[in-house]
Amino acid sequence: MTKTLHHWIGGRTVEGTSGSHGPVTDPATGAVTTRVAFAGVEEVDAAVAAAEAAFADWGRSSLAARTAILFRFRALVDAHRDELARLITAEHGKVHSDALGEVARGLEIVELACGIPVQLKGELSTEVASRVDVAAIRRPLGVVAGITPFNFPAMVPMWMFPLAVACGNTFVLKPSEKDPSAANLLASLLAEAGLPDGVFNVVHGDRVAVDRLLEHPDVRAVSFVGSTPVARHVHTTAAAHGKRVQALGGAKNHMLVLPDADLDAAADAAVSAAYGSAGERCMAISAVVAVGAIGDELVRRIRERAEKVVIGPGHDPVSEMGPLITRAHRDRVASYVRGAAAQGAEVVLDGTGFTVEGYEGGHWIGISLLDRVPVTADAYRDEIFGPVLCVLRAETYEEGLALVNASPFGNGAAIFTRDGGAARRFQMEVEAGMVGVNVPIPVPVGYHSFGGWKDSLFGDHHIYGNDGTRFYTRGKVVTTRWPDPADTPPGVDLGFPR
Ligand code: NAD
Repeated sequence: MTKTLHHWIGGRTVEGTSGSHGPVTDPATGAVTTRVAFAGVEEVDAAVAAAEAAFADWGRSSLAARTAILFRFRALVDAHRDELARLITAEHGKVHSDALGEVARGLEIVELACGIPVQLKGELSTEVASRVDVAAIRRPLGVVAGITPFNFPAMVPMWMFPLAVACGNTFVLKPSEKDPSAANLLASLLAEAGLPDGVFNVVHGDRVAVDRLLEHPDVRAVSFVGSTPVARHVHTTAAAHGKRVQALGGAKNHMLVLPDADLDAAADAAVSAAYGSAGERCMAISAVVAVGAIGDELVRRIRERAEKVVIGPGHDPVSEMGPLITRAHRDRVASYVRGAAAQGAEVVLDGTGFTVEGYEGGHWIGISLLDRVPVTADAYRDEIFGPVLCVLRAETYEEGLALVNASPFGNGAAIFTRDGGAARRFQMEVEAGMVGVNVPIPVPVGYHSFGGWKDSLFGDHHIYGNDGTRFYTRGKVVTTRWPDPADTPPGVDLGFPR
């Protein structure tokens, strides 16, 4: 029996009425486990109306009241870590330990939001003129929307709503339709923590729901995380409707390995970062650039490690890598591997055709390693979002850097070296928003901000950290004159203040 997942509007479950549904599958078995309701325009409007109504009080609530709720929410998520992780594994497929890591990184932003009074302190200048003070304060926007991808069904929503509601906004989340259940669990935990009805809402669905959020006149700002083509669409459409927007897109993250690097550490890092979560991470390493004569040896060490990765269902504690999200995605990833040799790559490991005994219906693919990949090959040019690592060769640091910077994406980039000067040069010269020095996946901690450059982010603000607070608030500057009781009135003066 498949269950049906509904929307969460105004503090309660609301059944879908559009008549449209989508299937949610267990990627390890391929079985449909849930039907998720897809919102039409009316249901999105109902969620925005609930959020708009809730904003009247929430936008004026005290910081103490908001943070008390967020502290309780933090404790509840902590207590439900395992349940959340199991839900993620059942719908996304990633292994349980990885799902627990996702929850932990999401909690970081909840913790940041618990400290929002520090972020919202504002600025004050006294006596800017005689008896005149100036205060800069930040106010909430109103209803804001979050649209999130399948690959982090709990963490990416938690990159957004804790800060948004801490700043006094109300929120409508449209999670990925492929693994939507974590959003409803988070909604019920927020309610249990005491969040007033309507402050956080979830509408499920596809493009119909997204486009309505982008066009709705009462939605003031949109945070989006997903693929580059959709990020571009979200950015242009939301901006055309007068909204503030941050739209984080796809990636092709490079790891430059210099000849002096610790090759074992580099190989460990490449395998962990390329194949963790089956490559379905926006910060996954998908291209290694070996500089100088180390290429053959580095590939040998990566291969040796990659062959040992245990692939199996995410709930099995021995599994290190799970299946891909859908069968269609698995087939797409496989087509890149199958086409690579004809486009000039050397196929060192071919993961296509892999399956797991007893789970033959799952969306399985093994690990693929492609060497000497030409920059013209599709496997290098496109974001594959699967367990496929491309290795390229460069003679010099400059040639390697030029390769990295020629990519249209600029999410993360890493350098592996023992040379501090070279690493420092790379951190200045590489065109990416997040840089790792001997760190393959440089996801910033919660109190810094996350975001890429070029086709990996459209908009001015990165997500969470200080940028998050700025994105979810707008500035106001208040100029005040309180005359001293002994002052005589200044009289009429039509001149411009000097
Ligand atoms: P996606 O772009 O297909 O979907 C993201 C969201 O947009 C979902 O909620 C989906 O329902 C909606 N959507 C899909 N097509 C749409 C359309 N045509 N119009 C309007 N809305 C649409 O992305 P995905 O496959 O769920 O996630 C994987 C992608 O997300 C990868 O490209 C990955 O790099 C990217 N990602 C980026 C980051 C980052 O921080 N830059 C983080 C995680 C994932």
